Amino acid sequence: MRVLFASSEVFPFSKTGGLGDVLGALPAALAERGHEVLVVSPWYRRLNALPAPLWIGDVEVPFAGDFEPAGVGVLERGEVRYAFVGHPDFERDAIYGYDDDVRRFARFTRALPPVARRVGFRPDLVHVHDWHTAALPLVLAHGWHLPDGFAGLPSVLTVHNVQHQGAAGLDETLHWLRLPLSLRASYLDHFGRANLLQGGLGFAWEVTTVSPSYAEEIQRPEYGYGLDGTFRHIAPKLTGILNGLDREVWNPATDPALPARYDAGNLAGKATCKTALCAELGLPDDRPLLGVVSRLAEQKGIDLLLGAAEEALARGWALALLGSGDAALEARAAELDARHDGFRAVLGYDEELAHRIYAGADALAVPSRFEPCGLSQLIAMRYGTLPVARATGGLRDTIRHGETGFLFEEIGSAALLAALDEAQERLESGAAGPMRATAMAEDFGWDGAARAYEDVYRRALANRERAGA
Ligand code: ADP
Repeated sequence: MRVLFASSEVFPFSKTGGLGDVLGALPAALAERGHEVLVVSPWYRRLNALPAPLWIGDVEVPFAGDFEPAGVGVLERGEVRYAFVGHPDFERDAIYGYDDDVRRFARFTRALPPVARRVGFRPDLVHVHDWHTAALPLVLAHGWHLPDGFAGLPSVLTVHNVQHQGAAGLDETLHWLRLPLSLRASYLDHFGRANLLQGGLGFAWEVTTVSPSYAEEIQRPEYGYGLDGTFRHIAPKLTGILNGLDREVWNPATDPALPARYDAGNLAGKATCKTALCAELGLPDDRPLLGVVSRLAEQKGIDLLLGAAEEALARGWALALLGSGDAALEARAAELDARHDGFRAVLGYDEELAHRIYAGADALAVPSRFEPCGLSQLIAMRYGTLPVARATGGLRDTIRHGETGFLFEEIGSAALLAALDEAQERLESGAAGPMRATAMAEDFGWDGAARAYEDVYRRALANRERAGA
């Protein structure tokens, strides 16, 4: 199959979270299985230091009632082809966070068909990600000025996080995208405003999200962020597919960031990692060590963890937290750090320290309120570190309670503490050893996910045949 991927983030070129990781791994996994893949993304100003693409000229982008030029850059990595869209809209310090984000990504979305044509790529199907590119299915169905072969193409939309939806005025959004005003009364309309994610949910031929549990949860008001009714409505075309883990980057047997390396057959190196980590952070090394590597955000339940921290310390744990984000959570973590010898908070983003915590900790706390898939629990298991996590989304789907980690249901510090007690009991009785081995043997690679996406693509293409297109 020839698949056009479109995304606002693509690792290693750009990343703010799991979306970038998926775009860094899934196209390569599909290419390995024999598919032809083109990944299209904006070229952001802050990327200028990377191996630059070859700029091959401009395309005319139908946008805002007019045609406007955008640059096209090309690059190949392994089996995957990349095309980047260059425009002053993306020459800013950050990827997101601007008042005109919907307009910026509407422009990017509108550039996708002419860019694909410019590089000679004629897709069988397009695969778009999150709200930024979710309007492409509408454009393919109703947009004016499409190159030959693009009108009516099958599309797949993957939802990585429902919290972000892309809202703007309805008429201006239609004007930017060069879509007919008849679409005022369509899935694009959410209470009188344009909602790009909902538009994509309605018009994409198939929709996926990043775990089976999250696919079910977002159909409920507690998790749907206002779109639960829409998700219920489109449920027949909704599938949950777990993300994989890059098993080369995350491998305790070869990880250059660790003071000692280890595998499931010989965990001596893991003990060395713990001793070194405790020395580095000034923590006692004779207690069970609970690690946290996370954005400090409400989603991640860090308030629950900080609320439980003093009781966990009293019960014998030591805690090592690495994270940054919400100012109030940072202040609370710093205060606990100042008051307790057994609690260290490192506030910031530190890729190498993250590796050392995953390896050196005995357990990893992931008390998320919601978690579409989650990566940190997969990394922890691969490093023989038992996750203690809330039973939601991808955490529920990847952790087996009592076998590879510990799950708790309620959102609250008491439930977290009860799960920590269970983990502590296993760690102190020596019963955690076999659990570590089981966790390390779990297969969270990308190949299974790539096969599952192939099935979704086949379903979309079969729909096209049924539609007689
Ligand atoms: P999300 O994408 O919602 O933040 P995930 O669990 O899917 O959560 O992915 C988080 C990734 O970011 C993991 O690889 C984790 O190790 C990394 N990470 C989060 N915070 C930090 C930090 N402060 N320093 C280093 N890595 C971090």
